[in-house]
Amino acid sequence: MHLNEKFLASPKLLERICASRSVLKVDYLIVGQGLAGSLLSWQLLSRGKRVLVVDRDEEGTSSKVAAGLVTPIAGSRFNIPDGMERNLNFAKKFYWDLEESSGLTLFHHVRIARLFQNEKEVATWQKRIAESPERYKEFYEKLTIDSSQFHLPHGGFEMCQSGWLDLPAFLEQMRQILLERAAYAIGVVRPADIVTHENSVQWKNVEAGTIVFCQGWEGCQNEYFDWLPWNPARGDVLDIKMKNPSNESRIVNRGGWILPRGENVFRAGSTYDHDFANASPTETGKEEVLEKIARITGEEPEVISHRSAIRPSIRRSQIIMGRHPKHRSIAFFNGLGSKGVLNGPWHAHCLADHLLSNKPIPESADLQSNFV
Ligand SMILES: Cc1cc2nc3c(=O)[nH]c(=O)nc-3n(C[C@H](O)[C@H](O)[C@H](O)COP(=O)(O)OP(=O)(O)OC[C@H]3O[C@@H](n4cnc5c(N)ncnc54)[C@H](O)[C@@H]3O)c2cc1C
Repeated sequence: MHLNEKFLASPKLLERICASRSVLKVDYLIVGQGLAGSLLSWQLLSRGKRVLVVDRDEEGTSSKVAAGLVTPIAGSRFNIPDGMERNLNFAKKFYWDLEESSGLTLFHHVRIARLFQNEKEVATWQKRIAESPERYKEFYEKLTIDSSQFHLPHGGFEMCQSGWLDLPAFLEQMRQILLERAAYAIGVVRPADIVTHENSVQWKNVEAGTIVFCQGWEGCQNEYFDWLPWNPARGDVLDIKMKNPSNESRIVNRGGWILPRGENVFRAGSTYDHDFANASPTETGKEEVLEKIARITGEEPEVISHRSAIRPSIRRSQIIMGRHPKHRSIAFFNGLGSKGVLNGPWHAHCLADHLLSNKPIPESADLQSNFV
């Protein structure tokens, strides 16, 4: 049977293929359309590959709950990791190009007012900028901020080249792109339902050269990859209303962060709970975010919504990717952790290079060299 494009351009693609008993042949079957699956599918499609992305289409995934912050200087150690500039430039160009072609605003260039939490942070920061002044000067400026609205007993700095990606809008745009190319279907791919051959895999009526699992934290339950050192972390995000700071357009971070969304609404986060029973929001998580807000400002927040999800984190929050050591037609892209928006695009590009041309994967992310 001829599967024409109109027939395929539907989230119910799988039902239709299965009902028609025809076999859909693709180069890559991608499991999951979170940030990882979206980025990789784009790389493969733009290189002319036939792709099918199958996603469960559920709420409450890491990509749908995440604030999407891009923070070049992260954490209390104010470290700029190796390769950060390369990854940041690649990511910004990728999101810009997507904005150009879609006419949407997806990446918001917003600076971060980083307020020091204590004197230890001040000392760490001063040491960092003294050690690598050239590298750091690209990423910060002197902070000017209304001290009547924020707690800043130890001062702070203004982080540049930061921002946030509207992840739900990004995912929806990617879904539309996939649908237009008949490359998206709603469904659940169970690893047990895959039949592996030397150079291909079969799943239902779909035959793929390679299946790539981009399942987020649920990858830890996938029998092909459950042996990796998973370290997933549940995180809470609140949407709150506050009268003030009314004229602050920057993200303000003091351990926790608040992100202005307009009309006195702020997104606030976040928590890292490695000992979770499930992905649901908890009272403890909510209290923790409220405490973080209280460290930033004395304003009383009104909680509008509380959501949580599980970050896919492997070992020390490392992106890990590559082919399965035994089953070469099974591959993996995961561990995007809390910096997926910044680091994901460049890694997806490298993984596509590897899958198509066998180019080596960057060592820090290579499944083989790290774990086999
Ligand atoms: C509270 C919180 C705050 C965060 N803040 C930030 C931030 O500010 N900046 C940042 O860069 N990152 C942040 N992150 C992390 C970010 O969300 C992740 O890096 C990234 O979104 C993970 O994307 P993913 O595609 O790997 O996983 P997911 O988003 O979990 O996507 C996996 C997809 O696979 C689907 N799936 C799973 N199993 C199957 C199956 N068997 N069959 C079909 N489909 C399946 C799921 O339904 C889902 O759609 C945050 C995360 C959380 C939880």
